[in-house]
Amino acid sequence: MWGPGASRRNVLLGGLVLTGTIGGLIRPSEAWAGPAATAPPVIGCDAWGARAPSGVIPVWDRRPLRIIVHHTATANVEDYSRGAAEFVARTIQDFHMDRRGWIDTGQNFTISRGGHILEGRHGSLEVLRAGDRHVEGAHCTGQNVEAVGIENEGTYTALTPPDRLWSRLRAMCAYICQQYGIPPTEIGGHRDFKDTLCPGDAFYAMLPRLRSEVADALGQPLSGRTARRASWPLLRPESSGPVVQAAQHLLRAAGLTDVQPNGRFDARTVAAVRQYQQAHRTEEVNGLIGGETWPLLVTAKGADQQEVTLAVRALTPDGAVRASALPGTEEWKRLLSAAERRP
Ligand SMILES: [Zn+2]
Repeated sequence: MWGPGASRRNVLLGGLVLTGTIGGLIRPSEAWAGPAATAPPVIGCDAWGARAPSGVIPVWDRRPLRIIVHHTATANVEDYSRGAAEFVARTIQDFHMDRRGWIDTGQNFTISRGGHILEGRHGSLEVLRAGDRHVEGAHCTGQNVEAVGIENEGTYTALTPPDRLWSRLRAMCAYICQQYGIPPTEIGGHRDFKDTLCPGDAFYAMLPRLRSEVADALGQPLSGRTARRASWPLLRPESSGPVVQAAQHLLRAAGLTDVQPNGRFDARTVAAVRQYQQAHRTEEVNGLIGGETWPLLVTAKGADQQEVTLAVRALTPDGAVRASALPGTEEWKRLLSAAERRP
């Protein structure tokens, strides 16, 4: 999302072209043996009348590694015109520059409910066409140097995006993956990295399908399992079950022993999460456990190992766990993901 909850920090690095060390330069033709994804039409900043940036936009001399999908958390309008799309782009840019104090729009691209794709941050389209550099955005703190951010207009907590938005998003992701050699498995949602509802439950649940359709478009079919991949569950006040219980044990392991491991995300649990987030200076102190708080919880130093073991036990149906082999971060993600999906 681009309003409250979007990334706050955008460090201006001052150089026009920055060099980095992540990833090598692979020509697009070498990256994909399958059919070429054609470039979808994108309305550039000049064409929609974007304001000039207020500072130098960092451009990295290397390719981005992933795509992050957002929703704007704005009204699900029925106006599918280009004019409506340009209005959204202008509104976001004004908000980011005037209220957030950023140098330009935060996301690299915006897709309207009508399926119009617009360039967000200046320069994003030019580097994408060349397939060699990345324009640093301000859409997901910690990922802005590595990830292309796409804001999709609407609120998709319960409703799914309209077909015209979906088909353009798929085409855009396929083109971005092709140009930068990004594997379709590296298409994620904002909540994979942050404690946020973005891009909404309904949209987030469609990401395996998006990865799969993008892979098909590139002639690199994915198995259903790979497209689905493990992800950090998003816990919030209405959540319940073994994943909540595991989180409660991990909070207790971190010293927040007011929490009762009852499997319900109750008021005490919310308060403990907020306390934990405050202590760990997460971007948001909102009581949600998502892609930022989970990795901290599962790797806490000095945690009470007995509680950690109980957390693992809550996630494994047979209750079997060897105290000498507590999970690493990726294994935690796999266990939590599997427990959440278990009926
Ligand atoms: Zn977002």
